[in-house]
Amino acid sequence: MDKIKMTTPLVEMDGDEMTRILWQWIKDILITPYIDLRTEYYDLGLKHREETKDQVTIDSAEATKKYGVAVKCATITPNAARVEEYGLSEMWKSPNGTIRAALDGTVFRTPILVKGITPYIPTWTKPITIARHAYGDVYKNTEMRVAGGSKAELVVTDKDGKETRQLIHNFKGDGVIQGLHNLDASISGFARACFQYALDLKQDLWFASKDTISKIYDHRFKDIFAEIYEAEFKEKFEAAGIEFFYTLIDDAVARVIRSEGGYIWACKNYDGDVMSDMVSTAYGSLAMMTSVLVSPSGVYEFEAAHGTVQRHYYKYLKGEETSTNSVATIFAWSGALRKRGELDGIPALCDFADKLEAATIGTIEDGIMTGDLYLLSKLENKRKVDSRTFLEEINTRLSAKLR
Ligand code: NAP
Ligand code: MG
Repeated sequence: MDKIKMTTPLVEMDGDEMTRILWQWIKDILITPYIDLRTEYYDLGLKHREETKDQVTIDSAEATKKYGVAVKCATITPNAARVEEYGLSEMWKSPNGTIRAALDGTVFRTPILVKGITPYIPTWTKPITIARHAYGDVYKNTEMRVAGGSKAELVVTDKDGKETRQLIHNFKGDGVIQGLHNLDASISGFARACFQYALDLKQDLWFASKDTISKIYDHRFKDIFAEIYEAEFKEKFEAAGIEFFYTLIDDAVARVIRSEGGYIWACKNYDGDVMSDMVSTAYGSLAMMTSVLVSPSGVYEFEAAHGTVQRHYYKYLKGEETSTNSVATIFAWSGALRKRGELDGIPALCDFADKLEAATIGTIEDGIMTGDLYLLSKLENKRKVDSRTFLEEINTRLSAKLR
């Protein structure tokens, strides 16, 4: 079989620890035997981020804007322990945060369903995708403690120096206050990314907030979604046979639990943070989630939702056997290759991505799986394999599909 040719390179963002090992194995075992892989390579491993004073992260985000599709390995977000371990000159920022800020993106996370692993909510037979707004609200807050006897006010000074004041509270006893904000531009970008992604997936879009209580703040989100939908997406949604609806967050939660899945749930920043943890736990495992960052201009960055699996890496370094789940990283590659195929008109690339995903799911459904899934799976003939054997078993099925 001739290798599949690519016309535009993928932006490849390499990472750290166990996922960096898996990254190379996935390429060697599952990708380069079949594809004449073209990538523009950026090493986001912590050592190289230090060497470049983190410039490599910024460069990789710029390259993503230029080419349109990136695939990213999990990376270490340094803390004090990592500063010591890697002799860092600075506690570099989270690469995901840097890339998200550069692309102004929304992150979409979808569980990968396999037979034998039942969600805790048994009616969820289709995946629920969470779209989380990644700017503002409590994540950019300013807050303080207030002593009893104080008056707290909201003061806004406009560009001409004119002040508008609003009473927050007259504190009789001690208490706390918090100042939040968001931006119309960021909310609009979030809304567009959600509408665009719903069209890509041909799935309904739900958006929920607390506009009955927050009549200006949350209501602004509701209005922006409604305006953009009417002006830019309504006809496209109708043509695709999908629906957008807004509801109160309380109602959304009740509907989600009763649903069968199969839609996108757009959440404000805090709601998305906690609801995505709830949804991913209910479906089984972070290693069985796809994660993609979509910018309002239609740039895509595919990644795994889990971290660098440090504990397994130290076992690997000692020469011990590991059984690390590579599914989310494989799906990052298949997602990126499929998107490249769609954008460049290379159906063979899309077909390869479909078969790689099917071979991966097929392997697990045949009972061959890594340790994390072995604990969850209800299959009777299940067998736990090491990290590399799992990839080789996928390849056995992939090569048969491509023959
Ligand atoms: P983690 O790497 O997600 O791993 C936490 C634990 O979850 C592991 O020890 C393992 O449990 C289990 N696990 C996670 N992924 C797994 C997989 N693919 N296969 C099997 N088991 C898996 O989180 P962490 O240990 O808190 O963080 C490690 C590093 O990752 C940190 O430096 C953090 O900054 C970084 N991080 C990066 C990203 C990203 O780039 N997207 C996201 C989160 C964290 P057992 O040990 O019990 O087997
Ligand atoms: Mg969280």
